[in-house]
Amino acid sequence: MSVSGLAELIRERQPCVALTGAGASTESGIPDFRSPTGIWARFDPFEYGAIEAFRADPRKVWSFYKPRVAMLAEAEPNPTHLALAELERLGFLEAVVTQNIDLLHERAGSREVVEVHGSIRSSTCPGCGERYPLERVLELLAEADAPACGACGEILKPDVVFFGELLPAGAIDRAFELARRARLLLVVGSTLEVHPVAGLPLETIAAGGELAIVNRGPTALDDRAALRIDGSAGEVLAAVVEELRGQEAQQPQNAR
Ligand SMILES: [Zn+2]
Repeated sequence: MSVSGLAELIRERQPCVALTGAGASTESGIPDFRSPTGIWARFDPFEYGAIEAFRADPRKVWSFYKPRVAMLAEAEPNPTHLALAELERLGFLEAVVTQNIDLLHERAGSREVVEVHGSIRSSTCPGCGERYPLERVLELLAEADAPACGACGEILKPDVVFFGELLPAGAIDRAFELARRARLLLVVGSTLEVHPVAGLPLETIAAGGELAIVNRGPTALDDRAALRIDGSAGEVLAAVVEELRGQEAQQPQNAR
């Protein structure tokens, strides 16, 4: 019933935009940062995830990031990523706005992906500004505990948003624009506690759109949602795709 209800909402309320958080990637074996068993419960975020900590001791921060980057690079997209990519191909999803840095939406085939917290796609030298793609960073990490710039020797910084850093302006502007345009914002695997991303659903609602939430456990905006499903995002979205397959979106997606 709720799967049918969600499929119905997606079909009727175009354009639909997805907003994904850590819960979208947990089925790929990537631990949630903020859960009680998550990474920040074991590593003090101000020692390992803050920009001040990186500036003070980048090698120490890389002792935390090195195994994490290797793990993310080996993770595979799960049914949640695949279902969202399929919804886009079918014309039912305009874009995915994600808080995740793991590149799994892109690797699943999603084309319009807005990474509001950056990603592991590249790292940048704070000294000379040279940008290094993930493959090169992994090569450097195979030879050293922290990747150093070949040109100037400084330790590279991953292009992910650290605590204390601003979100990438282009990405967050695009995310808010998409949220305002969306007649349905589909939240997947986020507890909607991290600002300013958690403000996106409120933009959608203020502009007359609706909110649907697929998440294990409660979120901060459950009482504002037109529909809410507590369960495995992968199973729910795969079932939604099955319902919508063979149908066409009511409005063309090429109107932007
Ligand atoms: Zn450099």
